[in-house]
Amino acid sequence: MKNVILIAPPAAGKGTVSKYLVEELGYTHLSTGDLLRNEIKNGTKIGIQVKEIMDSGQFTPDNIILPLFKSELLRIKDKPFILDGMPRKLNQAEYLTDLFNELNANNYVVINIDAEREILERRIIGRRYCINCGSSYNVYFESFMPKKENICDKCEKELIQREDDNLESFSKRYEDYVREAESLIHYYKEKGLLKTIDASLSNNEIIENILKEIK
Ligand SMILES: [Zn+2]
Repeated sequence: MKNVILIAPPAAGKGTVSKYLVEELGYTHLSTGDLLRNEIKNGTKIGIQVKEIMDSGQFTPDNIILPLFKSELLRIKDKPFILDGMPRKLNQAEYLTDLFNELNANNYVVINIDAEREILERRIIGRRYCINCGSSYNVYFESFMPKKENICDKCEKELIQREDDNLESFSKRYEDYVREAESLIHYYKEKGLLKTIDASLSNNEIIENILKEIK
């Protein structure tokens, strides 16, 4: 199985894909956030440094993040991995290209799960949750609509919308993503490594397409 670099806008279903690869296929999931949190939790020298940087509201610099990925990749050795949210910028992608060469880990594919902005937008702003049992619904998609408007199918309690699930917060996240992803997508396309998967498909279809790409 190939290693995977996952690139996707908000609400494209990155979480579902990662979960499948980890649980069904034994991939190791590597994200910047997890690696940093781990260092902090274990109270390492880097962790202490990272906590200071985070507490002061700044971004953790590449000279801390990139070596962390390197040592993690060395640690997991030949197990397949997914990189999630890494690279975020072009210089990080270039670093990874060199690193994969160095580690002889060139059997990888860059999977870009993407859909029209409108679909992603609806996935987020259409979300509703049951205040009682936490079941989730979506008022824009037939198969996720509650049977009665604004009422949970399972427990008949009221549905609510989360504060963050609004157009403004979606737009910001989406636009930040597009700005960063553009150069990455271009970079990996040029290298012939980019595989784009339609995020508007069902979860099963997405997984099926991904399986074709990683075999
Ligand atoms: Zn409910």
